[in-house]
Amino acid sequence: MELARLLYISEATRPIGPAELAGIVRTSQQNNATKGITGLLVCAGGQFFQALEGDPLRVSALYNHIRADPRHTNAVRLQFKPIGTRLFAEWGMELVHADHAGPIDQDRMAKALIRLRLGNGLAADEVDVLLREFRS
Ligand code: FAD
Repeated sequence: MELARLLYISEATRPIGPAELAGIVRTSQQNNATKGITGLLVCAGGQFFQALEGDPLRVSALYNHIRADPRHTNAVRLQFKPIGTRLFAEWGMELVHADHAGPIDQDRMAKALIRLRLGNGLAADEVDVLLREFRS
């Protein structure tokens, strides 16, 4: 089966509380499972970063659907590339909520997201390092 990973970053249009975020994750886990899509959603300092892995057409269609959600804006696609194996195979859609982490982790993640936003030209291996960092 052909596999691709899409990464994007976006900005929340208003504060998204923990209950609403949990709702987004619950919906995502249900919907994505039916499409064979796995991934990670990072929320830190009003910014989102999401990794979507699965069939390229399904991933692309889901990204277009998510992008239209008025709860976020300024989505920038950072990567959409074929992959051999999934990084998040066991994650239907895992949430990493930095705002609930300790101050050091919050700071580290917010800085990582800023690097992603500014570094549209980040080398592929640098992006992989950041992804593994979020995963851990
Ligand atoms: P419905 O629930 O019928 O909603 C219809 C429209 O209203 C959609 O455009 C929806 O985006 C919008 N909407 C829904 N709830 C609200 C609300 N509380 N306030 C404002 N607008 C609302 N969904 C997935 O399936 N998989 C994902 O991986 C995924 N990731 C997401 C990541 C982010 C950062 C965000 C903000 C949302 C994500 N979603 C994801 C949610 C997705 O955008 C849709 O809300 C969800 O898929 C339900 O779609 P629907 O057409 O069945 O919507």
